[in-house]
Amino acid sequence: CEREIDGVRTRGFSVSFSKRYITLAPVATVVGLAFNAIDESRPEGRRELGITCALIPVPQPGMQIGRRHHPMNSSFMNGPIKGQDVFVPMDWIIGGEHRVGQGWRMLMECLAAGRAISLPALGAATQQTSVFVANGYGQIRNQFGLPIGRFDAVAGTIAAMAVELYATDAARRYTAAVLDQGEQPSVASAILKVQLTEAGRRSVNHAMDILGGKGIISGPSNLLSVAYRHMPIAITVEGANILTRSLIIFGQGAVRCHPFVMREMQAVQQNDAQALGQALIGHAGHVARNLWRSLFGAPMAGTPPAALEKEARLLARLSAKYALTCDLAMGLLGGRLKRMELLSARLGDCLAHLYLASCCLWRYVFDANADLLPFARAAMRVELDAAEEVLRDLYANFPTPGRRLIGALVLSRTAHLAPLRDVQLLALAQLLRTRPDLVARLCPDVSTPKTGGLLDLMQALELSRQLSDDATALNKLVRRTCSFEEAAQGMPNPELALAYLRAADRVIQVDDFAP
Ligand SMILES: Cc1cc2nc3c(=O)[nH]c(=O)nc-3n(C[C@H](O)[C@H](O)[C@H](O)COP(=O)(O)OP(=O)(O)OC[C@H]3O[C@@H](n4cnc5c(N)ncnc54)[C@H](O)[C@@H]3O)c2cc1C
Repeated sequence: CEREIDGVRTRGFSVSFSKRYITLAPVATVVGLAFNAIDESRPEGRRELGITCALIPVPQPGMQIGRRHHPMNSSFMNGPIKGQDVFVPMDWIIGGEHRVGQGWRMLMECLAAGRAISLPALGAATQQTSVFVANGYGQIRNQFGLPIGRFDAVAGTIAAMAVELYATDAARRYTAAVLDQGEQPSVASAILKVQLTEAGRRSVNHAMDILGGKGIISGPSNLLSVAYRHMPIAITVEGANILTRSLIIFGQGAVRCHPFVMREMQAVQQNDAQALGQALIGHAGHVARNLWRSLFGAPMAGTPPAALEKEARLLARLSAKYALTCDLAMGLLGGRLKRMELLSARLGDCLAHLYLASCCLWRYVFDANADLLPFARAAMRVELDAAEEVLRDLYANFPTPGRRLIGALVLSRTAHLAPLRDVQLLALAQLLRTRPDLVARLCPDVSTPKTGGLLDLMQALELSRQLSDDATALNKLVRRTCSFEEAAQGMPNPELALAYLRAADRVIQVDDFAP
């Protein structure tokens, strides 16, 4: 439409909209809007110009910014925006008039990069903090005369959290490096968004369990409640996880990442029989190769580190099995697969586990430090085991006759894959308790705060390190004497012992307030 702006006839769009949950809306000075542009002056059938992005200055006639939302009581600004017949001149279209209709691509390109950065970083930060806190608290808090981190059930949980952190942080760093090189990995970014925010939520849930009552009481000395409360925000924004997992990852990846399907679709669209024939022949060869590799082993691209060669071979073979499964799923189910969200989600999950396993391999080589080998190996095995389990579930749920037979065939020769054994998990937990340098390498981004519960925990851990083996004897003395001062007097270094007991007590105590 055209409007008179400052005495000049100006072309633009009249847009109406209403949207909740807009971050920074209550304090916005400019609003980014994506709208479906329509040109009523065009003939019927050619009016839809497509999704278009514009930047609209605030305030603006017709636009109202509503009252503030409180997302899980976090402090960032968020609120609704409404617009009725807001005039958007062509100058406000991002990229100018010739970019009208190209908004969807802009949004997808931004998401391809952005979705791999901030929310995965938040997930990894939550995991790092959870591992650091659970492992530290497990050494300070005693029950039945022992630090709770020495009980197998707690130790196993902490070790499993650390193993998952190795894999997810590897994926975060690898994908960020890929972005740095100018790539726009839309499938990998969707994987990261789902996997790292889910891992962050799992990790903080486990850590809260380990903290017991300490995790539940709010106040400045609480170690995790803010992260625990905020994690659902990361799960929901920038593509809610259920939808992204079940529609986007495999839905986008199946065509984009397949070496032949895109060419086949283009050939059909262009009615090019020769190109279609070539693509189909290539596709058949691809399926045959993956069948062979699934059954008899797949070659590896490059040379993996000797210490992880077995895992790398399994990864190559499972990747072939996955590729074959994708072709079978698409071939057997066709267009129905898109609507079968539970199957699509599993196909996405399997790809995600294989991606995370590959990133572990990359991280181990990139770090060039053998200290974290036990975690790298454990993380790869957990991811490979999960990928194999997902494939098994997938075949069990294919609504196609003969699926069990195909599944048994495709999955043969990876039956020896086993989850991490308890003894291995407990050995990792012991490393976490006794090697603060390894904890620092797994949680490098946990910084020292100026005040609060995390600082108390760090100080208590430092004093406990200085006490070393004396801590056990000291705890026994406290149980016997019921007095910090008396117990400390029974130790070789009473001053250090008393300082530790007071610091540990600060970690265990919680905040209280007037009724
Ligand atoms: C704190 C916060 C900040 C936000 N900031 C912004 C912002 O700045 N700009 C902006 O544009 N938006 C923003 N959003 C909106 C956010 O992107 C949406 O809330 C999110 O996409 C979910 O939409 P919804 O709440 O309407 O959920 P719904 O669409 O109602 O979805 C509810 C559930 O159903 C699932 N679901 C829906 N459809 C399907 C499907 N087809 N298949 C499988 N599952 C499905 C979803 O995964 C979800 O679990 C923000 C939201 C929040 C909470």
